[in-house]
Amino acid sequence: MIRNRRVKVVATLGPASNDYDTIRKLHEAGADVFRLNMSHGTHEDIKARHAIIRQVEEDLESTIAILADLQGPKLRVGTFANGSEDLEEGAEFRLDLDGDTPGDINRVNLPHPEIFAALEPGARLLVNDGKIRLRVDSCGDDYANCTVIAGGTISDRKGVNVPDVILPLAALTRKDRKDLEFACQLGVDWLALSFVQRPEDVQEARGLVGVRANIMVKVEKPAAVENFDEILAVCDGIMVARGDLGVELPVHAVPPIQKRLVRKCRAAAKPVVIATQMLESMIESPMPTRAEVSDVATAIYEGADAVMLSAESAAGQYPVQAVTTMDNVAREVEADPNYMKIIAASREGREHGVADGIVAAAREIAETTDVKAIVAYTQSGTTALLTARERPTVPIIAMTNMQSTARQLALTWGTTPVMTEQLTRFKMAVVNAVRAAIQTGYATESDQIVVTAGVPFNVAGTTNILRVAPCDERMIYYMDPG
Ligand code: ATP
Ligand code: MG
Ligand code: MG
Repeated sequence: MIRNRRVKVVATLGPASNDYDTIRKLHEAGADVFRLNMSHGTHEDIKARHAIIRQVEEDLESTIAILADLQGPKLRVGTFANGSEDLEEGAEFRLDLDGDTPGDINRVNLPHPEIFAALEPGARLLVNDGKIRLRVDSCGDDYANCTVIAGGTISDRKGVNVPDVILPLAALTRKDRKDLEFACQLGVDWLALSFVQRPEDVQEARGLVGVRANIMVKVEKPAAVENFDEILAVCDGIMVARGDLGVELPVHAVPPIQKRLVRKCRAAAKPVVIATQMLESMIESPMPTRAEVSDVATAIYEGADAVMLSAESAAGQYPVQAVTTMDNVAREVEADPNYMKIIAASREGREHGVADGIVAAAREIAETTDVKAIVAYTQSGTTALLTARERPTVPIIAMTNMQSTARQLALTWGTTPVMTEQLTRFKMAVVNAVRAAIQTGYATESDQIVVTAGVPFNVAGTTNILRVAPCDERMIYYMDPG
């Protein structure tokens, strides 16, 4: 799918988006990446959704990234007899270790003995990204009697945060290890790690994942913000997971953190996703609020690689409309002449390598000459990421013979991945680049493009060549003997 925008859209799949038709519509409407949340649904469900995504990808001859999100040491309540209950402010509500009895208006299971051991009267429990607040009145080894401070609808397996209590939590739970192996065997492009606190948490996961997937760190703990530079150095991408972050820290601390993290990720040439509550009201309404639209626009103006939908596409009533809304906001923002000025103003100084020089030159040529695309040959994806870091004014086409690289790059700002065969000659690379530029619709035969590559092709190494090429194939054969 060729989109007329730079920022990418991630859509979470769930009960509202389980079938082929919906997933295909979501992709057609603008979802570039699908997120499978390992917190919800069985391995069978995940496997079925994975197969549907790959089918859509094949049927539409598209490139789609799949992001599997590991639950991490997240606390969740059990299930309810009725699926959900409305808790009223001032009511009493009990949490306990009784996992056999479904929850009701008076109680629900919280299957974490370590919490009850650590709780004290007065502690706050925040449910569903902090929408419901409970205060512990009395507690024991297997229960906590609470008062509802802020009411709302509580439903199956909603997350619980205990910001007042330090809990001894491992980065990867037993469930995570199983889910990680399952996802890797299934074949996902990105694995997201929840509640990362230290770079060692990432390295531990990397040891298990190997090269089977890229690793995205969800920043949702104060410690991850404090240790951000070290964490960024060892992961492949970042998700600003504002749900838990806005519970673990005061909500008003989140926007400056979001801005800072987006800038650091761009400087490091690693993709960054802004997530949670972007179009929250669209779970139940076909129209977003003005504030939500503004929030999505802000993330795009900041230069994020992707914006994400959670419950809006997974469990809401208007999943396709939510994607369309993001697509519309993105096009409008990116058409604003101020957008590119803002993006250019936040370009950081670059390093002094050959590849860095070439991607900068490609961007400058695109700014000063009439070229329609930058076509970057890349194996691991690095050259495409460096090109995207420049935030050029024309589309980036990432040519790769690695399907995993192509899919991983579906998350990257401004980048359209295109598969190509293993090449030996630069002339053939130029011809293929021209064909890709025309096929994607970014250029016509009378245009010209910039091509970057590392030659010779059969030697691993960095990008070292830049060619401005006409899109007329006959001209290439005529001009270029090599
Ligand atoms: P996380 O902290 O990883 O974001 P989450 O519980 O907030 O976990 P999201 O994927 O953000 O989960 O989705 C938001 C809500 O949408 C969930 O709380 C759940 O109610 C619903 N949901 C999402 N995916 C599923 C699914 N596969 N099955 C059932 N409900 C789902
Ligand atoms: Mg979360
Ligand atoms: Mg969430």
